[in-house]
Amino acid sequence: MMFDDDILNGIKEYFDVRELVDKKTFTKYGQKSWQFLDLRMLHCILIIREEIYKGKKVQGMDTGLPITANTWLWGGDLDERGLRTNICDTVKGKTDDKTLYLSAHVQGKALDFDVKGMTAIEVREWIVDNHRLFPYKLRLEDKKKDRDKNSKTYGQMIPISWVHLDVYWLDKNSKVYLFDV
Ligand SMILES: [Zn+2]
Repeated sequence: MMFDDDILNGIKEYFDVRELVDKKTFTKYGQKSWQFLDLRMLHCILIIREEIYKGKKVQGMDTGLPITANTWLWGGDLDERGLRTNICDTVKGKTDDKTLYLSAHVQGKALDFDVKGMTAIEVREWIVDNHRLFPYKLRLEDKKKDRDKNSKTYGQMIPISWVHLDVYWLDKNSKVYLFDV
């Protein structure tokens, strides 16, 4: 059992909030941006950050592996991998098209990330194998349709190359629920 403060203090050891929200949110809310991120989601990320390959000294580290989400903080172009607001490109586009958009990202319940030294497939397998570490049900995106016409696998379902984790809860879902998008 971890209390809310423990989760927040733990995750802040590894993440700047700018890695989890976009620039406009941070500009307006600064450190108060943490309030928009779901504690269950943060707790799952904290567990992965601290437990994945713990003790195996992968790349000289023995306390888990670094996780990358948004990169705009360092001049990168990724800024929608955590919270997505009404004026983020993805969400605004859906609204303009009058398309319903209920991604867990808009509720701060999802994070797209990479784990250093591991493929997304390896990370998903580790999460499934270690489902007992997690106090909550979680969902992982698995495969998507290849829309790259130059690709050999065009039109086929291919593994998603990043990890999307969210904490939407549905009675019928397994502890770790993999779904295609
Ligand atoms: Zn996602």
